[in-house]
Amino acid sequence: MRRSLAGTLALRLRLQSEETRTMNAYIFPPTPQAAVPVQGSSQFYAVSRIFCVGRNYAAHAREMGFDPEREPPFYFNKTPIALTPSGATVPYPLGTRNFHHEMELVIAIGQPALRVAPQQALDCVWGYACGLDMTRRDLQAHSREKGQPWDFGKDFEHSAIIGPLASASRIGHMANGSIRLSVNGALRQNADLKDMIWSVPEIVANLSHYYHLRPGDLIYTGTPEGVGPVQPGDRIAGSIERVGEITLTIGPAG
Ligand code: MN
Repeated sequence: MRRSLAGTLALRLRLQSEETRTMNAYIFPPTPQAAVPVQGSSQFYAVSRIFCVGRNYAAHAREMGFDPEREPPFYFNKTPIALTPSGATVPYPLGTRNFHHEMELVIAIGQPALRVAPQQALDCVWGYACGLDMTRRDLQAHSREKGQPWDFGKDFEHSAIIGPLASASRIGHMANGSIRLSVNGALRQNADLKDMIWSVPEIVANLSHYYHLRPGDLIYTGTPEGVGPVQPGDRIAGSIERVGEITLTIGPAG
């Protein structure tokens, strides 16, 4: 159907005014949407929140100086702008002398979850990725001693590294499988997902009693033993069986 000249002109004017309105809506350009590439797809998973489980492997709880009794899981959060893709080079962060790697399985929520039972929780999981919960260990330890929040140690620029997402419809759900990390080729973390104190369905079910979980929510599920420091120039390579791989290079202090 042909539009009249007047109609075409009116449409063009309306589009121009919408464009101007969008440009003028913000006093500076908005931060781009945080997103994770999906394996075997040109689409992205748009991220709204990042939850992280603390001390979810007994041997890691022990190396941090805690008795790994099966207490309820606890969480901290990272800001989506901290999300950084696998393969990046990140500056050695500000304010720390003890920058640590933590290799983790990441859950990507795909359906709303509110007060779900563990038996239904996996229906709400879209897929999985390899993640690095990069940590300023000295600042975290200081906060812990003082009974202060962990944000300084955990939530900072480039602290949430993530590899491409694998859909559960393709790889299934993750109850076991090798999880490893090496630095400059030397193996540092080498465990199995079956050693998680809280399993994937238990974590999703527990968190759904405190938040309205929804698509866009990522959950870093905690790290096994073997965490340690990295220095400028170091190359980190991690992997989780069936899920994939993740790499990170530490650049000069920034
Ligand atoms: Mn962690």
